[in-house]
Amino acid sequence: MIEKPNPFNDKLLLNILAVSNEATAIYTTDDIVIQFANDAMLGFWGKDRSVIGLPLEEGVPELKGQPFKYMLQQVLRTGITDNGIISAETLINGELQTNYYEYEYRAIPDDNGVPYCVLHTAANVTERERNKRVIAQQQEEAQALTEELEASNEELRLINEELIISNNELDNAQTQLQAAYNSLEENEIALRLAIEAANFGTWHINSITRAFITSARLRELFGYRADEEITIEDTLAQITDEYRGLVSKKFENAIYNGGDFDVTYQVVGYHDQVTRWLRAIGNLKADPSGEFSNFTGVVMDVSELRRDEQRKNDFIGMVSHELKTPLTSMKGYVQILKSKADKNQDKFSSDVLDKANNQVSKMTTLINGFLNVSRLESGKIQIDKQVFDMALLVKEVEEESITTITSHKVVFAPVVETIVKADRDKIGQVINNFISNAVKYSPAGSTIEVACITINGKALVSVKDQGMGIAPKDIDKLFERYYRVENNSTATIAGFGIGLYLSSEIVERHNGNIGVESVLGKGSTFWFTLPVNLV
Ligand code: ADP
Repeated sequence: MIEKPNPFNDKLLLNILAVSNEATAIYTTDDIVIQFANDAMLGFWGKDRSVIGLPLEEGVPELKGQPFKYMLQQVLRTGITDNGIISAETLINGELQTNYYEYEYRAIPDDNGVPYCVLHTAANVTERERNKRVIAQQQEEAQALTEELEASNEELRLINEELIISNNELDNAQTQLQAAYNSLEENEIALRLAIEAANFGTWHINSITRAFITSARLRELFGYRADEEITIEDTLAQITDEYRGLVSKKFENAIYNGGDFDVTYQVVGYHDQVTRWLRAIGNLKADPSGEFSNFTGVVMDVSELRRDEQRKNDFIGMVSHELKTPLTSMKGYVQILKSKADKNQDKFSSDVLDKANNQVSKMTTLINGFLNVSRLESGKIQIDKQVFDMALLVKEVEEESITTITSHKVVFAPVVETIVKADRDKIGQVINNFISNAVKYSPAGSTIEVACITINGKALVSVKDQGMGIAPKDIDKLFERYYRVENNSTATIAGFGIGLYLSSEIVERHNGNIGVESVLGKGSTFWFTLPVNLV
């Protein structure tokens, strides 16, 4: 075959490449010497033709530190074409610029197939790449926004669910509130009806302003006209002198110390001048604002009750008084008979008369008790104070108990001199009452311990038994008039519930204290204190 002559020699080809719009360069050797670069490529580099013939990083020093030399060496060494998009930093018009290029490094083999040069073509795709990046960034931002929105959406959904739950709860609370309100309204109506039916007067006081709101009935109870405006002072003025101080004290104590308010007193009506006994019961309730309290209460007319009590009291007083005289005579007759029996050495009669004498004494104590209650109620009890030694009084009680109490072991602890100023007989009565109760409410044969010591400037007398004890619910009421514990153990024990009432009244009138410690089924210790007389 005859070879056709090739019209394109190397020089021609290079000339063609030189005018091509596509940026082109050719490199040889491991130093990547620029053998050829057309104007388009020189434009990318920001250089002129003087770089041709120089190694790449010498001709275009800005490319040092960028990967091009290494990439070109790889293509020349391996013969494997490398292409893609890459950014390059070059100095154009004295300014460092970063641009993106779509490039291809293609190894050109010699006749033996060994790569001897690299053909480099490139296109500036900066604009496109930047747009792509902006779009990608926008997409990323949009994605982030979408994710955020989704998260907010989820939160909103959860909040919504919670709101639905709260709404349901609110609905329930509303229903309950309505029900509570309804029952409150019913209660209020019932209360109003009860107050009207019982003919109670009602009052209401603001603890700070002292504004006094009263019902018409209350005004009537104090002798004012139903439509009259009255003040707290107006009501206090109608209370009798004997009770005004007590009511004021209780009133102030209730308002400023939250003490209980239940007081019975006598009033003389303002217009009608009628004497009435009134009982007022009040309750202090703090306002939710915490700034003031409301003091609310009722007043009832207890005149009839008081009159009944007075009549009962008078009757008891009269009967007791009338019984005393025959009893005193009876005691005298028994004693005369006893001395006669003793003289005749009639032991049987003497013993029987001793027993009769004991019973008469018991009866005398009982009647004296009633008489004392009656005197106490009508304010006629007398306390005759004298200075004496408690040790001697306790000794007397001891001697008396040795002769009268045989059913129990009464043990008296040694007492040192303890001088007090008190009504000796009445204090003796209190100790005797404690001892006789200990005998009554503890089993025969058990021990009763009596002691008198001085503690914190006070004489403390105590009587301890091993008896039935007292339940906590009864303890507070024991010292009330006519109060008796009612259970199977006390049912058969006689009494009227006046001994402890009298004892507490006597001790109180001496500025002493009285009390009891007790364990049900184990025993009780009754005690009282009196101030020691230091003079
Ligand atoms: P009385 O003994 O006449 O009933 P008191 O006023 O002396 O009246 O006592 C009141 C109540 O206290 C008694 O009914 C009794 O239930 C209880 N009580 C008094 N002393 C004792 C005591 N030592 N042990 C148990 N209970 C007692």
